[in-house]
Amino acid sequence: MEQNHWIKDFPQIKDNYRFFDSAATSLKPQSVIDAVNDYNQRLSANIHRGMYQQSQEATELYEEARVKVASFINALEEEVIFTRGTTASLNLVARSYGLNHIKEGDVILTNMAEHHSSILPWFNVSKEKGATLKYITLSPEGKVGLEAFKEAINDNTKIVVIHHVSNVLGYASPLKEIIKIAHEYGALVVVDGAQAIQHLKVDVKALDADFYAFSGHKMLGPTGIGVLYGKKQLLNQMTPLEFGGDMSLDVEKDGFSWKESPFKFEAGTMPIAEAIGLKAAIEYLEKATIDKIHTYSEKLYHYLMTSLESIQGIDLYNHQSDTFIFTFNLTDVPSHDAISFFAEKNIALRAGQHCAKLIHDHLGIHSSLRGTIYFYNTYEDVDQLVLAIKEAIQYFKELGF
Ligand code: PMP
Repeated sequence: MEQNHWIKDFPQIKDNYRFFDSAATSLKPQSVIDAVNDYNQRLSANIHRGMYQQSQEATELYEEARVKVASFINALEEEVIFTRGTTASLNLVARSYGLNHIKEGDVILTNMAEHHSSILPWFNVSKEKGATLKYITLSPEGKVGLEAFKEAINDNTKIVVIHHVSNVLGYASPLKEIIKIAHEYGALVVVDGAQAIQHLKVDVKALDADFYAFSGHKMLGPTGIGVLYGKKQLLNQMTPLEFGGDMSLDVEKDGFSWKESPFKFEAGTMPIAEAIGLKAAIEYLEKATIDKIHTYSEKLYHYLMTSLESIQGIDLYNHQSDTFIFTFNLTDVPSHDAISFFAEKNIALRAGQHCAKLIHDHLGIHSSLRGTIYFYNTYEDVDQLVLAIKEAIQYFKELGF
C-alpha cells in the first residue's frame, strides 16, 4: 500500500486519531503553525500604520498573503478581500451588493443543496427588497443539473447563489456553464467555494465568477481568515459594510471618504497572523500540488467506497463525490446516537445537518453522518473506519435499533 509522506507534517495526527472531518475544518501543517507563531512571537505589530520595522514587516507579510491568494485563484490583488471566513464573505456580498441592487420583483436563484451561510443572507435580501428566492430543481440524488438550471433561470433572475461543491454530498456544480448562461441573462453569480478550494484548481477568471468565497481553515490555514474574491468593477460599485479605522481616506466633521478596494472592506485591525498563516497554507498546497492531493485522495476514497458499498446496514447517500465526502446513516439509527460510538473509538466524523437542512429535506432524511477523505488520511484510517462501522451496526442491532 502507498505510503503517506504528508502525514508527518500534521502534528495533530497521533495516538491512532482517525480524522475524517476535513469538510468541517482541515488539519494544519507545522509550517502554518510556525508562520502564525512567528508573527506573534517576533512581530506582533499592527499593519499599515507604523513606520517601525516590525510594523513594516507585518504589513509586507499581510500584503504578500493577498498576493499569494490572488495568484492561487488567478485574481488581481485588489480583487482579494480578507474576511473572517466564507460566512462573512457571503454576507458581505448579500448586504453590500444585494441590498443596493436587488429590487422588488427580482429573482434570486438558488437551490436546496446550499449551506446556510450561502443561502440565509439572501433570505434577508429577498425579504427586505420584495424579491423572490427561487430554487433550481435538484436531481433525486441532490445534484444541480444544467438542464434544471436552464429551466429555472429567466430575465428576472438577477443573482445566482450556488456552491462550487456541496458540503453534504461533495458534488461539484457545472459552474462554468452555469456562469456563462447566467451572464447571458444578465445575472451575477455568487459562488460558495468553501468546499472546493482545498480540492480543485480554482481559476476565478476561467470560471468568470462574479464573486467567489472561501475559508482559510478548510484549506490547511488558520481559523478566523477567509476570502471574498469579487470582480474589480463590481467591488468598485460597492459600498463598505463596516466603517472604522484603516478603511477611510479622509474624515471631516461632516463626512468622510473611503479607500479603494480591497481596503475599503477591511475596517479595523484585521486577522494579521491568520492571513500570514493562510499564505503558508497556500504554499503548502502548491508544494504538495492540488493534482497529487486529488489523485491520492481519490484512490483512498475508492478504496473506502468499495467497502462501504458492500456493507449491509448503512444508507449511503452519495456514491461519486467529487471531493471525497461520504454521507450516510446506520439504517434506523439517529446520527447523533451513532456519532458517539465513533467518537469513543477516536474516529472523527460529523453528525447532524451540517448547516444544510434543505438538502436533508430533499433527500427525505432528518440528519446524516458525514466524513471526508483528505490527503493526510491513510489506508489504515480507512480500515479502522470500516471496522468501526461494522461494529456499530452490530452494536445498535443488539440494542434493538
Ligand atoms: N459554505 C460551505 C459549503 C461550507 O462547507 C462552510 C463551512 N461549513 C461554509 C460555507 C461556512 O464557512 P465558515 O464557517 O468558515 O464561514
